[in-house]
Amino acid sequence: MQARAAAFAREQVMPAVAEWERDGRYPRAAVAGSGLTGLFCPVDAGGAGLSYPEGMAVFEELGRGDAALAFSLSMHNAVAAAVAGHPELAARWARPLVAGEALGGFSLTEPHAGSDAAAITTRAEPDGSGWRVTGRKAWVSLAGEADVFLVVCKTSDEPGHRDVAVVAVERSAPGVSFSTLYRKACADFLPIGEMELDAAPAALLAPPGAGMRAALGAIDVARCDIAAISAGLHAEALDVAVAYAGERQAFGRPLLDLQAIQFSLADVATDLEASRLLYRRAAERLGTADGPVAVAHAKRFCPDAALRAAIACSETLGAYGWLLDHPLARMIALAKMLQVVDGTAEIQRLVIGRSLASSRSPRD
Ligand SMILES: Cc1cc2nc3c(=O)[nH]c(=O)nc-3n(C[C@H](O)[C@H](O)[C@H](O)COP(=O)(O)OP(=O)(O)OC[C@H]3O[C@@H](n4cnc5c(N)ncnc54)[C@H](O)[C@@H]3O)c2cc1C
Repeated sequence: MQARAAAFAREQVMPAVAEWERDGRYPRAAVAGSGLTGLFCPVDAGGAGLSYPEGMAVFEELGRGDAALAFSLSMHNAVAAAVAGHPELAARWARPLVAGEALGGFSLTEPHAGSDAAAITTRAEPDGSGWRVTGRKAWVSLAGEADVFLVVCKTSDEPGHRDVAVVAVERSAPGVSFSTLYRKACADFLPIGEMELDAAPAALLAPPGAGMRAALGAIDVARCDIAAISAGLHAEALDVAVAYAGERQAFGRPLLDLQAIQFSLADVATDLEASRLLYRRAAERLGTADGPVAVAHAKRFCPDAALRAAIACSETLGAYGWLLDHPLARMIALAKMLQVVDGTAEIQRLVIGRSLASSRSPRD
């Protein structure tokens, strides 16, 4: 699967991304044909049945190709895995999601509530044998494109997250609309916008009381994906800079012979080693009690390191680092995106800080 992801990134993503951007269209056919749409789903459901460390190796390769497309596959794979584990939803959605014929989206954020997830107000109410959802979601990736969205909702007026549930909403259901699409610094081929839900019919995935835990479990896997995607972007930036600096002559020798260039790229290489160690360690701990903090360390460090790398590598190319022909300017914008998606660095610091505070041993 890692080799398949590397070939997909090199042969189908890198040469095509400029065209996707020009057309502003999500590459559904390429994604469906990638064979990377059921990474964590069981083999008997048609999935690849990968462990988390194996899956993260796939995401590092995808991060080399294009971090925005890789992010959309991270979200889709999280949805496919959640649906495959739920008997009723699996019967309708598991096969098409795993095959990539259908796409999955995950919707937690609202216009007034991002990091503060417990402040959401979208409301799910029981309705006969199903549920109905009313509210407005923001920053919905694959808006209008995904076929089924897992939507995190409140189910009562009680403040906090104890009543939170997760429901599945179909894009084509009555009461579902996508009126606002955002224009972004890059990756306009990935539609992101707002989703209005007006008494939309929904099926229950995680019941009230279990919703926030289910959402956070999925978000931990997604955060680890993003750390691995960051390492892929980081590795690709370094490869571009080393190749360029090995060719480009200045003052009678290749740039790469200049110690100042070597020192700059040496720091990029050290950060890459650290990123890989952090995300791989986090992947091994996913699903254990140590998972959330290990993931927070990786999500805190890897996107920041990728942004530093993209900037340093772009500087190695001088003026050429700013041209669209070289991918570094785009990588800077994508690394900024990776810092925010699935929880900012400050939110990771909160997770790490709380764990430090709770493990503090009393001193005399
Ligand atoms: C490209 C992209 C795709 C996305 N896709 C999805 C999606 O598909 N589904 C979805 O649900 N969401 C999605 N999001 C939303 C994303 O999860 C949120 O943007 C993120 O959680 C941060 O929320 P916010 O942007 O509202 O920032 P805010 O929560 O408003 O935070 C603003 C700033 O304040 C800081 N801050 C907030 N609280 C604290 C605190 N307690 N201590 C210190 N600092 C703090 C933050 O770190 C940040 O720097 C996406 C975002 C992006 C950029």
